[in-house]
Amino acid sequence: MAMRITEECINCAACEPECPNQAISRDEAASLFVIDPARCTECVGAHDEPECVGVCPVDCIVADPEHAETRDDLQAKYERLHAA
Ligand code: SF4
Ligand code: SF4
Repeated sequence: MAMRITEECINCAACEPECPNQAISRDEAASLFVIDPARCTECVGAHDEPECVGVCPVDCIVADPEHAETRDDLQAKYERLHAA
């Protein structure tokens, strides 16, 4: 399941460099950060826990039930993203 950033985001940028999949970017228009569900693996493949969640000072990164995926799906996505 991809993660999603809610409107509580304070635009601090702490999460962006933590993502192993470059899934996080700034949405200039909305003044917050967004996660690309096509690139978020919940950190499966790289870390035990979602790194972005751990650094967010306002706990505004949540699981997105609209992008439900199994752990195997997430691992396959990670491997696809990092294939040479
Ligand atoms: S959970 Fe991991 S892969 Fe997904 S956006 Fe956060 S840091 Fe990136
Ligand atoms: S760490 Fe949290 S508050 Fe900061 S930019 Fe990322 S989602 Fe927004």
